[in-house]
Amino acid sequence: MSQAEQYEKCPHQYELQRLRKVKPRPAAWSHQGTAFHAAIETYEEGGRTLAEGEVANVFHVEYVAATKQALADEPNLDNWLTAGTDGKSDIEARYARGLEQARSYVRWAEDHKPAIWKDRAGALGIERHLTADIGGVTVQGYVDQLLDQPDGSVRVRDLKTGSMKSKFQLKTYGVLARKVLGVVVNHADWYMAKTGKLSRPIDVTGVAEEEVAEKFAVLDASVKAGHFPAKPGFHCRFCSVSHACSFRSR
Ligand code: SF4
Repeated sequence: MSQAEQYEKCPHQYELQRLRKVKPRPAAWSHQGTAFHAAIETYEEGGRTLAEGEVANVFHVEYVAATKQALADEPNLDNWLTAGTDGKSDIEARYARGLEQARSYVRWAEDHKPAIWKDRAGALGIERHLTADIGGVTVQGYVDQLLDQPDGSVRVRDLKTGSMKSKFQLKTYGVLARKVLGVVVNHADWYMAKTGKLSRPIDVTGVAEEEVAEKFAVLDASVKAGHFPAKPGFHCRFCSVSHACSFRSR
């Protein structure tokens, strides 16, 4: 799923990372996101019985383990990707931010009580790995949450610790959920950990399979044709394989 977006952003980055297997520079924001997702998944899977301190502790354990491993692989903090600060400060700041974000989610869930959808077997709609053929391409995605709606439909929700939002991702998740789970999906949204609030929902009622299929078909054909032009731009500052790229925009 993120492959299509990566290709669209910069085909050369796709090539460097996925085909030439360039080792990406580590970034604390990536560990923050992973640890936050693990904490919220544990909380939701446990039926929201954990206190906010316990959920924050899941974040702590996951974040510390992930950063330790990444530091063992890349001890030179000057080589870590940051959004302007130094590597050490970034790791520390994101640890503190992630702990508070995990706590804040618990408070938000206790206040708003979102109803997690369950399938016929009773399995919760959390971190669902959905795979389907879309336009002749095998597409897969991990849907963070599926929620029951008053009109009988199911809402797709993505949890975000960063600011980058992708409507295409939510549209694709909507198509995948309909196709794989057989549910009606009319709306999708993001839970923004930075603000502790939901985004405005996007209406995906009219998003047909063909609409998202086009982008995957382009990706598939381009990769098969070996078409990987560089698309330098502002995003080069956050490119994890920029050290192997000669087109980088500064
Ligand atoms: S540095 Fe910029 S141009 Fe080079 S691969 Fe990364 S995103 Fe593409």
